[in-house]
Amino acid sequence: MNFKAEINRRRTFGIISHPDAGKTTLTEKLLLFGGAIQEAGAVKSNKIKKGATSDFMEIERQRGISVATSVLAFEYKDIKINILDTPGHKDFAEDTFRTLTAVDSAIVVIDVAKGVEEQTEKLVEVCRMRNIPMIVFINKLDREGKDAFDLLDEVEQKLGLRVTPLSFPIGMGYDFKGIYNIWEHNVNLFTGNSKQHINDTIEISDLTSSKLDELVGENGAQTLREEIELVKGIYPEFKKDEYLDGHLQPVFFGSALNNFGVRELLDCFIEIAPKPRPKQSEERLVHPDEDKFTGFVFKIHANMDPNHRNRLAFVKIVSGEFKRNTPYLHVRHNKNLKFSSPNAFFAEKKEIVDVSFPGDIVGLQDSGNFKIGDTLTEGEIINYKGVPSFSPEHFRYINNADPLKSKQLNKGIDQLMDEGVAQLFTLDYNGRKVIGTVGALQYEVIQYRLEHEYGAKCTYENLNVHKACWVETKDEKSEEYKDFLRVKQRFLARDKQNQLVFLADSMFSLQMTQQKYPSIIFHMSSEF
Ligand code: GDP
Repeated sequence: MNFKAEINRRRTFGIISHPDAGKTTLTEKLLLFGGAIQEAGAVKSNKIKKGATSDFMEIERQRGISVATSVLAFEYKDIKINILDTPGHKDFAEDTFRTLTAVDSAIVVIDVAKGVEEQTEKLVEVCRMRNIPMIVFINKLDREGKDAFDLLDEVEQKLGLRVTPLSFPIGMGYDFKGIYNIWEHNVNLFTGNSKQHINDTIEISDLTSSKLDELVGENGAQTLREEIELVKGIYPEFKKDEYLDGHLQPVFFGSALNNFGVRELLDCFIEIAPKPRPKQSEERLVHPDEDKFTGFVFKIHANMDPNHRNRLAFVKIVSGEFKRNTPYLHVRHNKNLKFSSPNAFFAEKKEIVDVSFPGDIVGLQDSGNFKIGDTLTEGEIINYKGVPSFSPEHFRYINNADPLKSKQLNKGIDQLMDEGVAQLFTLDYNGRKVIGTVGALQYEVIQYRLEHEYGAKCTYENLNVHKACWVETKDEKSEEYKDFLRVKQRFLARDKQNQLVFLADSMFSLQMTQQKYPSIIFHMSSEF
Protein backbone atom coordinates (compact mmCIF):
# COMPACT_ATOMS: atom_id res chain seq x y z
CA MET A 1 0.00 0.00 0.00
CA ASN A 2 1.37 3.42 -0.79
CA PHE A 3 2.10 6.15 1.68
CA LYS A 4 -0.99 8.27 0.94
CA ALA A 5 -3.33 5.30 1.19
CA GLU A 6 -1.81 4.43 4.57
CA ILE A 7 -2.52 7.95 5.84
CA ASN A 8 -6.05 7.99 4.45
CA ARG A 9 -7.02 4.81 6.22
CA ARG A 10 -5.98 5.95 9.69
CA ARG A 11 -8.33 7.29 12.38
CA THR A 12 -6.76 8.35 15.67
CA PHE A 13 -9.13 9.40 18.40
CA GLY A 14 -9.80 9.52 22.12
CA ILE A 15 -12.88 8.56 24.11
CA ILE A 16 -13.64 11.10 26.80
CA SER A 17 -16.05 10.81 29.67
CA HIS A 18 -16.64 11.25 33.35
CA PRO A 19 -15.57 8.09 35.25
CA ASP A 20 -18.20 5.33 35.09
CA ALA A 21 -20.04 6.60 32.03
CA GLY A 22 -18.87 3.53 30.12
CA LYS A 23 -15.63 4.43 28.32
CA THR A 24 -13.91 1.11 29.05
CA THR A 25 -16.97 -0.90 28.08
CA LEU A 26 -17.38 1.00 24.83
CA THR A 27 -13.67 0.61 24.01
CA GLU A 28 -13.99 -3.09 24.53
CA LYS A 29 -16.99 -3.43 22.25
CA LEU A 30 -15.21 -1.47 19.55
CA LEU A 31 -12.27 -3.86 19.81
CA LEU A 32 -14.63 -6.81 19.58
CA PHE A 33 -15.97 -5.47 16.28
CA GLY A 34 -12.45 -5.17 15.00
CA GLY A 35 -11.81 -8.77 15.98
CA ALA A 36 -8.87 -7.46 17.98
CA ILE A 37 -10.01 -9.25 21.12
CA GLN A 38 -12.09 -12.37 21.53
CA GLU A 39 -13.94 -11.83 24.74
CA ALA A 40 -15.41 -9.25 27.00
CA GLY A 41 -13.35 -8.26 30.00
CA ALA A 42 -10.11 -8.15 28.02
CA VAL A 43 -9.65 -4.41 28.26
CA LYS A 44 -8.39 -3.38 31.64
CA SER A 45 -9.91 -0.28 33.00
CA ASN A 46 -7.29 2.22 34.03
CA LYS A 47 -9.76 3.61 36.44
CA ILE A 48 -8.66 4.26 39.95
CA LYS A 49 -10.74 2.15 42.19
CA LYS A 50 -12.79 3.93 44.77
CA GLY A 51 -11.32 4.09 48.23
CA ALA A 52 -7.79 3.67 46.97
CA THR A 53 -6.84 7.29 47.45
CA SER A 54 -4.94 6.59 50.65
CA ASP A 55 -2.72 4.02 49.02
CA PHE A 56 -0.88 5.75 46.25
CA MET A 57 1.32 2.79 45.29
CA GLU A 58 -1.81 0.84 44.62
CA ILE A 59 -3.00 3.68 42.46
CA GLU A 60 0.27 3.84 40.58
CA ARG A 61 0.09 0.10 40.14
CA GLN A 62 -3.40 0.40 38.77
CA ARG A 63 -2.23 3.19 36.57
CA GLY A 64 0.63 0.98 35.43
CA ILE A 65 -1.96 -1.14 33.74
CA SER A 66 -2.64 1.75 31.48
CA VAL A 67 0.73 1.34 29.72
CA ALA A 68 -0.95 -1.54 27.96
CA THR A 69 -4.10 0.44 27.29
CA SER A 70 -2.42 3.75 26.47
CA VAL A 71 -2.93 3.07 22.78
CA LEU A 72 -5.28 0.43 21.46
CA ALA A 73 -5.10 -0.19 17.74
CA PHE A 74 -7.25 -2.38 15.56
CA GLU A 75 -8.48 -2.73 12.02
CA TYR A 76 -12.10 -2.56 10.95
CA LYS A 77 -13.20 -2.64 7.32
CA ASP A 78 -9.66 -1.80 6.21
CA ILE A 79 -9.47 1.22 8.46
CA LYS A 80 -6.65 1.34 11.00
CA ILE A 81 -8.12 2.72 14.21
CA ASN A 82 -5.94 4.05 17.03
CA ILE A 83 -7.73 4.73 20.30
CA LEU A 84 -5.73 6.85 22.73
CA ASP A 85 -6.54 6.31 26.37
CA THR A 86 -7.70 9.30 28.37
CA PRO A 87 -7.94 8.83 32.14
CA GLY A 88 -11.25 10.12 33.45
CA HIS A 89 -10.11 10.56 37.07
CA LYS A 90 -9.69 14.23 37.80
CA ASP A 91 -6.27 13.90 39.45
CA PHE A 92 -4.96 12.79 36.07
CA ALA A 93 -6.78 15.39 34.00
CA GLU A 94 -3.45 16.80 32.80
CA ASP A 95 -2.62 13.46 31.19
CA THR A 96 -5.88 13.61 29.34
CA PHE A 97 -5.43 17.22 28.23
CA ARG A 98 -2.06 16.29 26.78
CA THR A 99 -3.38 13.21 25.06
CA LEU A 100 -6.02 15.37 23.41
CA THR A 101 -3.20 17.17 21.56
CA ALA A 102 -2.52 13.88 19.76
CA VAL A 103 -6.04 12.93 18.67
CA ASP A 104 -7.70 13.84 15.39
CA SER A 105 -11.18 13.44 16.81
CA ALA A 106 -13.05 12.41 19.95
CA ILE A 107 -16.06 10.40 21.09
CA VAL A 108 -17.80 11.79 24.18
CA VAL A 109 -19.60 9.21 26.33
CA ILE A 110 -22.47 10.39 28.49
CA ASP A 111 -24.48 8.37 30.99
CA VAL A 112 -28.19 8.65 30.13
CA ALA A 113 -29.18 8.90 33.80
CA LYS A 114 -26.44 11.22 35.03
CA GLY A 115 -26.32 13.48 32.02
CA VAL A 116 -23.43 15.87 31.56
CA GLU A 117 -20.94 15.51 34.42
CA GLU A 118 -18.04 17.62 35.62
CA GLN A 119 -15.11 15.93 33.88
CA THR A 120 -17.03 15.72 30.62
CA GLU A 121 -17.50 19.47 30.74
CA LYS A 122 -13.82 20.16 31.24
CA LEU A 123 -12.63 17.75 28.57
CA VAL A 124 -15.17 18.84 25.98
CA GLU A 125 -14.13 22.43 26.57
CA VAL A 126 -10.56 21.53 25.65
CA CYS A 127 -11.79 19.80 22.48
CA ARG A 128 -13.95 22.77 21.61
CA MET A 129 -11.04 25.18 22.02
CA ARG A 130 -9.11 23.12 19.49
CA ASN A 131 -12.01 22.50 17.13
CA ILE A 132 -11.59 18.76 17.52
CA PRO A 133 -14.47 16.97 15.77
CA MET A 134 -16.64 15.19 18.35
CA ILE A 135 -19.30 12.50 18.23
CA VAL A 136 -21.50 12.11 21.32
CA PHE A 137 -22.55 8.64 22.50
CA ILE A 138 -25.35 8.54 25.06
CA ASN A 139 -24.90 5.30 26.94
CA LYS A 140 -26.86 2.95 29.23
CA LEU A 141 -30.18 3.25 27.43
CA ASP A 142 -31.11 -0.08 29.01
CA ARG A 143 -31.48 1.86 32.26
CA GLU A 144 -34.02 4.46 33.26
CA GLY A 145 -32.61 7.85 32.40
CA LYS A 146 -33.43 11.31 31.23
CA ASP A 147 -35.71 12.02 28.33
CA ALA A 148 -33.77 12.06 25.04
CA PHE A 149 -34.78 15.62 24.12
CA ASP A 150 -33.95 16.91 27.60
CA LEU A 151 -30.54 15.30 27.36
CA LEU A 152 -29.86 16.81 23.98
CA ASP A 153 -30.77 20.20 25.47
CA GLU A 154 -28.42 19.60 28.35
CA VAL A 155 -25.58 18.64 26.01
CA GLU A 156 -26.14 21.82 24.01
CA GLN A 157 -26.29 24.06 27.02
CA LYS A 158 -23.71 22.61 29.38
CA LEU A 159 -21.20 21.57 26.76
CA GLY A 160 -21.80 24.42 24.34
CA LEU A 161 -22.24 22.01 21.46
CA ARG A 162 -24.46 22.18 18.42
CA VAL A 163 -25.89 18.69 18.19
CA THR A 164 -27.84 16.62 15.71
CA PRO A 165 -28.95 13.08 16.56
CA LEU A 166 -27.98 10.41 14.04
CA SER A 167 -29.79 7.74 15.97
CA PHE A 168 -32.76 7.82 18.31
CA PRO A 169 -33.89 5.50 21.09
CA ILE A 170 -37.17 3.62 21.03
CA GLY A 171 -38.23 3.54 24.65
CA MET A 172 -35.80 3.45 27.52
CA GLY A 173 -34.81 1.39 30.52
CA TYR A 174 -37.15 -1.55 31.07
CA ASP A 175 -39.03 -0.42 28.01
CA PHE A 176 -35.98 0.04 25.75
CA LYS A 177 -36.86 -1.60 22.47
CA GLY A 178 -34.19 -0.47 20.11
CA ILE A 179 -32.84 2.32 18.01
CA TYR A 180 -33.89 4.13 14.90
CA ASN A 181 -30.77 4.80 12.88
CA ILE A 182 -31.26 8.20 11.28
CA TRP A 183 -27.89 7.90 9.53
CA GLU A 184 -28.69 4.62 7.79
CA HIS A 185 -32.50 5.05 7.79
CA ASN A 186 -33.29 1.76 9.48
CA VAL A 187 -34.50 0.36 12.76
CA ASN A 188 -32.70 -2.07 15.03
CA LEU A 189 -34.77 -3.78 17.64
CA PHE A 190 -34.07 -6.03 20.54
CA THR A 191 -36.04 -9.21 20.08
CA GLY A 192 -37.75 -10.99 22.95
CA ASN A 193 -36.31 -10.03 26.26
CA SER A 194 -32.72 -10.83 25.45
CA LYS A 195 -30.62 -7.73 25.52
CA GLN A 196 -27.39 -9.66 25.42
CA HIS A 197 -26.96 -10.60 21.80
CA ILE A 198 -26.17 -8.16 19.08
CA ASN A 199 -27.37 -10.61 16.43
CA ASP A 200 -30.92 -10.58 17.67
CA THR A 201 -31.82 -7.42 15.81
CA ILE A 202 -34.25 -6.78 13.03
CA GLU A 203 -33.83 -4.29 10.28
CA ILE A 204 -36.75 -2.28 9.01
CA SER A 205 -35.85 -0.20 6.02
CA ASP A 206 -38.74 2.21 6.26
CA LEU A 207 -40.09 4.10 9.23
CA THR A 208 -43.62 4.03 7.82
CA SER A 209 -43.60 0.24 7.52
CA SER A 210 -46.45 -1.50 9.34
CA LYS A 211 -43.87 -4.01 10.56
CA LEU A 212 -42.77 -1.36 13.00
CA ASP A 213 -46.28 -1.29 14.50
CA GLU A 214 -46.18 -5.05 14.85
CA LEU A 215 -42.91 -5.02 16.66
CA VAL A 216 -43.15 -2.06 19.00
CA GLY A 217 -46.92 -1.69 19.08
CA GLU A 218 -49.01 1.00 17.46
CA ASN A 219 -48.40 3.48 20.23
CA GLY A 220 -44.66 2.90 20.25
CA ALA A 221 -44.48 3.23 16.49
CA GLN A 222 -46.55 6.42 16.50
CA THR A 223 -44.39 7.96 19.22
CA LEU A 224 -41.24 7.14 17.30
CA ARG A 225 -42.58 8.62 14.07
CA GLU A 226 -43.53 11.82 15.89
CA GLU A 227 -40.20 12.03 17.65
CA ILE A 228 -38.27 11.59 14.42
CA GLU A 229 -40.41 14.34 12.84
CA LEU A 230 -39.53 16.54 15.79
CA VAL A 231 -35.83 15.71 15.49
CA LYS A 232 -35.92 16.71 11.84
CA GLY A 233 -37.71 19.94 12.70
CA ILE A 234 -35.48 21.00 15.58
CA TYR A 235 -31.97 19.90 14.77
CA PRO A 236 -29.75 20.95 11.90
CA GLU A 237 -29.16 18.52 9.08
CA PHE A 238 -25.94 16.61 9.46
CA LYS A 239 -23.16 18.06 7.34
CA LYS A 240 -19.80 16.36 7.38
CA ASP A 241 -17.86 19.60 6.81
CA GLU A 242 -19.44 21.23 9.83
CA TYR A 243 -18.63 18.20 11.96
CA LEU A 244 -15.02 18.21 10.74
CA ASP A 245 -14.69 21.92 11.53
CA GLY A 246 -15.93 21.27 15.06
CA HIS A 247 -19.18 23.20 14.54
CA LEU A 248 -21.65 20.30 14.62
CA GLN A 249 -21.69 17.19 16.80
CA PRO A 250 -23.65 14.10 15.81
CA VAL A 251 -25.24 12.13 18.64
CA PHE A 252 -25.77 8.37 18.94
CA PHE A 253 -27.76 6.49 21.55
CA GLY A 254 -27.08 2.97 22.77
CA SER A 255 -25.96 0.60 25.44
CA ALA A 256 -22.30 -0.29 25.38
CA LEU A 257 -22.75 -3.12 27.86
CA ASN A 258 -25.35 -4.77 25.64
CA ASN A 259 -23.40 -3.94 22.53
CA PHE A 260 -26.38 -2.09 21.23
CA GLY A 261 -25.94 0.96 19.04
CA VAL A 262 -22.19 0.43 18.99
CA ARG A 263 -21.93 -0.92 15.44
CA GLU A 264 -23.99 2.07 14.23
CA LEU A 265 -21.56 4.38 15.98
CA LEU A 266 -18.49 2.63 14.57
CA ASP A 267 -19.81 2.44 11.01
CA CYS A 268 -20.63 6.11 11.00
CA PHE A 269 -17.34 6.93 12.71
CA ILE A 270 -15.15 5.32 10.05
CA GLU A 271 -17.09 7.12 7.36
CA ILE A 272 -17.05 10.63 8.82
CA ALA A 273 -14.15 10.84 11.30
CA PRO A 274 -11.12 12.73 10.07
CA LYS A 275 -7.98 11.07 8.79
CA PRO A 276 -4.74 12.48 10.29
CA ARG A 277 -4.97 16.23 10.23
CA PRO A 278 -2.29 18.86 9.52
CA LYS A 279 -0.69 20.23 12.67
CA GLN A 280 0.41 23.73 13.51
CA SER A 281 3.99 24.17 14.67
CA GLU A 282 5.53 27.41 15.82
CA GLU A 283 7.23 27.65 12.44
CA ARG A 284 4.56 26.47 9.97
CA LEU A 285 1.60 24.18 9.30
CA VAL A 286 2.80 20.61 8.69
CA HIS A 287 0.79 18.27 6.47
CA PRO A 288 0.65 14.51 7.07
CA ASP A 289 1.53 13.67 3.46
CA GLU A 290 4.86 15.54 3.49
CA ASP A 291 7.66 13.02 2.86
CA LYS A 292 9.80 14.01 5.81
CA PHE A 293 9.04 12.56 9.21
CA THR A 294 7.99 14.82 12.08
CA GLY A 295 6.31 13.93 15.36
CA PHE A 296 5.97 15.02 18.97
CA VAL A 297 5.96 13.51 22.45
CA PHE A 298 2.59 13.79 24.17
CA LYS A 299 2.99 11.33 27.01
CA ILE A 300 5.80 9.77 28.99
CA HIS A 301 5.20 6.64 30.96
CA ALA A 302 7.52 5.79 33.80
CA ASN A 303 8.38 2.16 34.25
CA MET A 304 6.77 0.85 37.38
CA ASP A 305 9.38 -1.90 37.64
CA PRO A 306 12.21 -0.48 39.78
CA ASN A 307 14.76 -2.71 38.01
CA HIS A 308 14.03 -1.17 34.66
CA ARG A 309 14.18 2.55 34.92
CA ASN A 310 13.62 3.22 31.27
CA ARG A 311 10.64 5.28 30.41
CA LEU A 312 8.45 5.03 27.38
CA ALA A 313 7.90 8.22 25.40
CA PHE A 314 4.77 8.20 23.24
CA VAL A 315 5.26 9.98 19.93
CA LYS A 316 2.43 10.93 17.59
CA ILE A 317 3.57 10.85 13.99
CA VAL A 318 2.43 14.01 12.24
CA SER A 319 4.09 13.66 8.81
CA GLY A 320 6.25 11.25 6.82
CA GLU A 321 7.26 7.74 7.80
CA PHE A 322 8.92 6.91 11.08
CA LYS A 323 11.57 4.26 10.49
CA ARG A 324 13.43 2.09 12.91
CA ASN A 325 17.20 2.64 13.32
CA THR A 326 17.11 5.97 11.52
CA PRO A 327 18.66 9.06 13.08
CA TYR A 328 16.14 11.81 13.88
CA LEU A 329 16.76 15.29 15.20
CA HIS A 330 15.67 15.93 18.78
CA VAL A 331 14.97 19.61 18.17
CA ARG A 332 15.19 20.91 21.75
CA HIS A 333 18.53 19.19 22.40
CA ASN A 334 19.77 19.70 18.85
CA LYS A 335 21.11 16.19 18.65
CA ASN A 336 20.41 13.10 16.58
CA LEU A 337 18.87 10.04 18.15
CA LYS A 338 18.27 6.57 16.70
CA PHE A 339 15.72 4.09 17.94
CA SER A 340 16.42 0.40 17.58
CA SER A 341 13.19 -0.87 19.05
CA PRO A 342 10.26 1.48 18.53
CA ASN A 343 7.02 -0.03 19.77
CA ALA A 344 3.77 0.00 17.92
CA PHE A 345 0.57 -0.73 19.81
CA PHE A 346 -2.12 -3.25 19.11
CA ALA A 347 -5.18 -4.27 21.03
CA GLU A 348 -3.47 -5.80 24.02
CA LYS A 349 0.21 -5.83 23.21
CA LYS A 350 3.06 -3.81 21.85
CA GLU A 351 5.51 -4.94 19.20
CA ILE A 352 8.64 -3.63 17.59
CA VAL A 353 7.88 -2.14 14.17
CA ASP A 354 10.02 -1.04 11.24
CA VAL A 355 7.75 1.66 9.82
CA SER A 356 4.87 3.73 11.18
CA PHE A 357 2.69 6.28 9.44
CA PRO A 358 1.03 9.62 10.25
CA GLY A 359 -1.73 9.09 12.79
CA ASP A 360 0.16 6.25 14.43
CA ILE A 361 1.75 6.35 17.85
CA VAL A 362 5.18 4.89 18.50
CA GLY A 363 6.58 4.20 21.94
CA LEU A 364 10.27 5.02 22.29
CA GLN A 365 12.52 3.76 25.07
CA ASP A 366 13.89 6.80 26.84
CA SER A 367 16.47 7.22 29.55
CA GLY A 368 15.68 10.87 30.21
CA ASN A 369 16.09 12.64 26.87
CA PHE A 370 12.48 13.52 26.39
CA LYS A 371 9.98 15.79 27.93
CA ILE A 372 6.38 16.29 26.99
CA GLY A 373 6.05 18.48 23.92
CA ASP A 374 9.45 17.56 22.39
CA THR A 375 9.58 17.38 18.61
CA LEU A 376 11.51 14.92 16.42
CA THR A 377 12.24 15.67 12.75
CA GLU A 378 14.56 14.69 9.89
CA GLY A 379 16.54 17.88 10.42
CA GLU A 380 14.11 20.78 10.05
CA ILE A 381 13.65 23.01 13.08
CA ILE A 382 10.02 22.48 14.02
CA ASN A 383 8.43 22.90 17.42
CA TYR A 384 4.91 21.62 17.73
CA LYS A 385 2.56 23.74 19.73
CA GLY A 386 -0.21 22.66 21.90
CA VAL A 387 0.85 20.86 25.03
CA PRO A 388 -0.25 23.52 27.49
CA SER A 389 -0.04 23.46 31.26
CA PHE A 390 -3.10 24.41 33.27
CA SER A 391 -3.09 25.99 36.68
CA PRO A 392 -2.56 23.31 39.34
CA GLU A 393 -5.00 23.00 42.21
CA HIS A 394 -2.48 22.31 44.99
CA PHE A 395 0.79 24.04 45.80
CA ARG A 396 3.56 23.15 48.23
CA TYR A 397 7.17 24.16 48.80
CA ILE A 398 9.53 21.28 48.25
CA ASN A 399 12.57 21.11 50.57
CA ASN A 400 15.69 18.99 50.43
CA ALA A 401 15.77 16.64 53.43
CA ASP A 402 19.26 15.29 52.76
CA PRO A 403 21.84 18.01 52.01
CA LEU A 404 24.28 15.46 50.57
CA LYS A 405 21.81 14.50 47.88
CA SER A 406 20.85 17.84 46.43
CA LYS A 407 22.11 16.90 42.97
CA GLN A 408 19.99 13.77 42.95
CA LEU A 409 17.00 15.73 44.18
CA ASN A 410 17.31 18.32 41.43
CA LYS A 411 17.72 15.68 38.76
CA GLY A 412 14.73 13.76 40.10
CA ILE A 413 12.51 16.81 40.23
CA ASP A 414 13.61 17.75 36.73
CA GLN A 415 12.80 14.37 35.24
CA LEU A 416 9.50 13.92 37.04
CA MET A 417 8.38 17.33 35.82
CA ASP A 418 9.40 16.36 32.26
CA GLU A 419 7.16 13.34 32.58
CA GLY A 420 4.35 15.69 33.48
CA VAL A 421 3.75 14.32 36.98
CA ALA A 422 3.47 17.87 38.35
CA GLN A 423 4.59 21.42 37.65
CA LEU A 424 7.54 23.23 39.11
CA PHE A 425 7.55 26.95 39.87
CA THR A 426 10.60 28.81 41.14
CA LEU A 427 9.86 31.89 43.20
CA ASP A 428 11.48 35.02 41.82
CA TYR A 429 12.46 36.69 45.05
CA ASN A 430 14.08 33.82 46.96
CA GLY A 431 14.58 31.00 44.45
CA ARG A 432 12.50 28.50 46.43
CA LYS A 433 10.88 25.67 44.56
CA VAL A 434 7.13 25.12 44.55
CA ILE A 435 5.44 22.00 43.25
CA GLY A 436 1.96 22.39 41.82
CA THR A 437 -0.31 19.39 41.23
CA VAL A 438 -3.83 18.61 40.12
CA GLY A 439 -4.46 16.11 42.92
CA ALA A 440 -3.00 15.90 46.43
CA LEU A 441 -2.02 12.34 45.69
CA GLN A 442 0.83 13.34 43.41
CA TYR A 443 2.86 14.66 46.38
CA GLU A 444 3.12 11.17 47.80
CA VAL A 445 3.98 9.76 44.41
CA ILE A 446 6.76 12.33 43.93
CA GLN A 447 8.21 11.76 47.38
CA TYR A 448 8.22 8.00 46.92
CA ARG A 449 9.70 8.11 43.45
CA LEU A 450 12.40 10.63 44.41
CA GLU A 451 13.52 8.31 47.16
CA HIS A 452 13.29 5.02 45.26
CA GLU A 453 14.43 6.11 41.84
CA TYR A 454 16.85 8.93 42.60
CA GLY A 455 17.96 8.27 46.18
CA ALA A 456 16.82 11.73 47.28
CA LYS A 457 14.67 12.75 50.20
CA CYS A 458 12.25 15.64 50.30
CA THR A 459 9.78 17.28 52.62
CA TYR A 460 6.91 19.60 51.80
CA GLU A 461 5.72 22.79 53.35
CA ASN A 462 2.32 24.33 52.88
CA LEU A 463 1.92 27.38 50.78
CA ASN A 464 -1.26 29.31 50.33
CA VAL A 465 -1.86 29.62 46.62
CA HIS A 466 -5.24 29.60 44.94
CA LYS A 467 -4.28 29.65 41.26
CA ALA A 468 -1.21 30.02 39.09
CA CYS A 469 -1.78 32.51 36.28
CA TRP A 470 0.53 32.99 33.34
CA VAL A 471 1.26 36.69 32.91
CA GLU A 472 1.10 38.46 29.58
CA THR A 473 1.75 42.10 28.86
CA LYS A 474 1.92 44.03 25.60
CA ASP A 475 4.40 46.49 27.05
CA GLU A 476 7.08 45.35 29.44
CA LYS A 477 8.30 48.91 29.85
CA SER A 478 5.01 50.39 30.97
CA GLU A 479 4.78 51.95 34.42
CA GLU A 480 1.82 49.70 35.16
CA TYR A 481 3.79 46.54 34.49
CA LYS A 482 6.77 47.74 36.47
CA ASP A 483 4.51 48.58 39.36
CA PHE A 484 2.96 45.12 39.16
CA LEU A 485 6.39 43.44 39.25
CA ARG A 486 7.39 45.51 42.27
CA VAL A 487 4.20 45.25 44.31
CA LYS A 488 3.57 41.57 43.62
CA GLN A 489 7.21 40.52 43.83
CA ARG A 490 6.60 37.91 46.52
CA PHE A 491 3.91 36.22 44.42
CA LEU A 492 5.86 35.91 41.20
CA ALA A 493 7.53 32.76 39.96
CA ARG A 494 8.91 31.14 36.82
CA ASP A 495 7.65 27.91 35.34
CA LYS A 496 10.04 25.40 33.72
CA GLN A 497 9.93 27.31 30.45
CA ASN A 498 10.93 30.43 32.36
CA GLN A 499 7.53 32.02 31.72
CA LEU A 500 6.37 34.48 34.36
CA VAL A 501 3.60 33.21 36.62
CA PHE A 502 1.53 35.04 39.22
CA LEU A 503 0.65 32.86 42.22
CA ALA A 504 -2.60 34.39 43.47
CA ASP A 505 -3.35 33.51 47.08
CA SER A 506 -7.11 33.85 46.71
CA MET A 507 -9.83 34.44 44.17
CA PHE A 508 -10.30 37.84 45.71
CA SER A 509 -6.68 38.92 45.37
CA LEU A 510 -6.66 37.73 41.76
CA GLN A 511 -9.71 39.88 41.01
CA MET A 512 -8.19 42.87 42.78
CA THR A 513 -4.96 42.45 40.87
CA GLN A 514 -6.81 42.22 37.56
CA GLN A 515 -8.70 45.39 38.39
CA LYS A 516 -5.62 47.29 39.41
CA TYR A 517 -3.60 46.23 36.35
CA PRO A 518 -6.07 46.15 33.47
CA SER A 519 -3.40 46.05 30.77
CA ILE A 520 -1.98 42.79 32.08
CA ILE A 521 -3.62 39.52 31.07
CA PHE A 522 -3.72 36.63 33.52
CA HIS A 523 -4.02 33.30 31.71
CA MET A 524 -5.23 30.07 33.29
CA SER A 525 -3.06 28.01 30.96
CA SER A 526 0.49 28.36 29.68
CA GLU A 527 -0.63 28.48 26.05
CA PHE A 528 -1.98 31.79 24.87
P1 GDP B 1 -15.58 4.10 32.56
O1 GDP B 1 -15.22 4.52 33.93
O2 GDP B 1 -16.16 5.25 31.77
O3 GDP B 1 -14.49 3.38 31.82
O4 GDP B 1 -16.83 3.10 32.72
P2 GDP B 1 -16.92 1.51 32.60
O5 GDP B 1 -16.89 1.10 31.17
O6 GDP B 1 -15.95 0.88 33.52
O7 GDP B 1 -18.41 1.31 33.09
C1 GDP B 1 -18.83 1.67 34.40
C2 GDP B 1 -19.96 0.76 34.84
O8 GDP B 1 -21.10 0.95 34.01
C3 GDP B 1 -19.59 -0.72 34.72
O9 GDP B 1 -20.14 -1.39 35.81
C4 GDP B 1 -20.27 -1.14 33.43
O10 GDP B 1 -20.61 -2.51 33.42
C5 GDP B 1 -21.51 -0.28 33.43
N1 GDP B 1 -22.02 -0.03 32.07
C6 GDP B 1 -21.32 0.34 30.97
N2 GDP B 1 -22.14 0.45 29.90
C7 GDP B 1 -23.39 0.13 30.33
C8 GDP B 1 -24.68 0.05 29.70
O11 GDP B 1 -24.85 0.27 28.50
N3 GDP B 1 -25.73 -0.28 30.50
C9 GDP B 1 -25.59 -0.56 31.82
N4 GDP B 1 -26.66 -0.89 32.50
N5 GDP B 1 -24.40 -0.49 32.44
C10 GDP B 1 -23.31 -0.16 31.72
